[in-house]
Amino acid sequence: MNQYLVQHPQTVEDYASQYSSDFVSRWDELIDWDLRKEGENGFFENLLKRAGARRVIDVSTGSGFHSVQLKKAGLNVVATDGSPTMLTKARHNFQKHGLDIETHHLDWLALDPSVLGTFDALVCLGSSLCHVFEEIDRLKVLANFKALLKPGGLLVVDQRNFFAICAGRYKSSGQYYYCGGNASVTLGEVNSELCEFIYTFEDDERYSLKVYPLLPEQLKSELNASGFSYRDMYGDFKRPFDMLSADFVIHTAVAL
Ligand code: SAH
Repeated sequence: MNQYLVQHPQTVEDYASQYSSDFVSRWDELIDWDLRKEGENGFFENLLKRAGARRVIDVSTGSGFHSVQLKKAGLNVVATDGSPTMLTKARHNFQKHGLDIETHHLDWLALDPSVLGTFDALVCLGSSLCHVFEEIDRLKVLANFKALLKPGGLLVVDQRNFFAICAGRYKSSGQYYYCGGNASVTLGEVNSELCEFIYTFEDDERYSLKVYPLLPEQLKSELNASGFSYRDMYGDFKRPFDMLSADFVIHTAVAL
């Protein structure tokens, strides 16, 4: 049985230790690329194309799922992540798909437009931003995201639906994001400061991720405070949607 790795991650840097090589080696089993692709039905590709985006940065590429979909859709993609284990997995997946995608091992606080250039769109997907616990740190991260975008550039951030989770309505339908049939995602500790997800695989191997339960309205106001103009909120890729029943909430905003 795997040990829970980090007791109380509180800082921006602690996320990387939660993505142990064991956990990351099972990430694609957890998400099931084919089913995830089916569940999304081209949502992000269409959103970016409608916005006229050509050069896109995926700042939490993880094992590379969205970078691959976006590259296959004809976009020019740069993939970054702060977890070395995840980035290694992404590079392997890019090679497996025969795709040449520029990658960088970078924490969000180290993203620098003078090195990376600027982009028409930035995606931060798979409920990643909630790894940042403190508002003051999220504001720094969002300012860095903004600095990477050209004026009018599109930001797309998604989160698990912490509104529903905090209201006791957690649901993981298995239709979106985590689609793998041989793993279940349940809740551990939940309070206004911490939300723990427990990933249990068929062979009883268990991993835990501890994140901040970032509420949709809070993220919306943080975006508006960080040089973005908030645009739309989607629930499980649809709009309008029921805030108590969506698994994931997707936010779009435009860099001013
Ligand atoms: N987008 C992928 C991975 C989601 S897991 C997917 O949907 O499958 C969350 C990812 O965010 C992890 O790969 C983690 O390393 C990354 N991450 C979290 N905090 C980060 C930070 N401060 N800087 C860079 N990457 C970060």
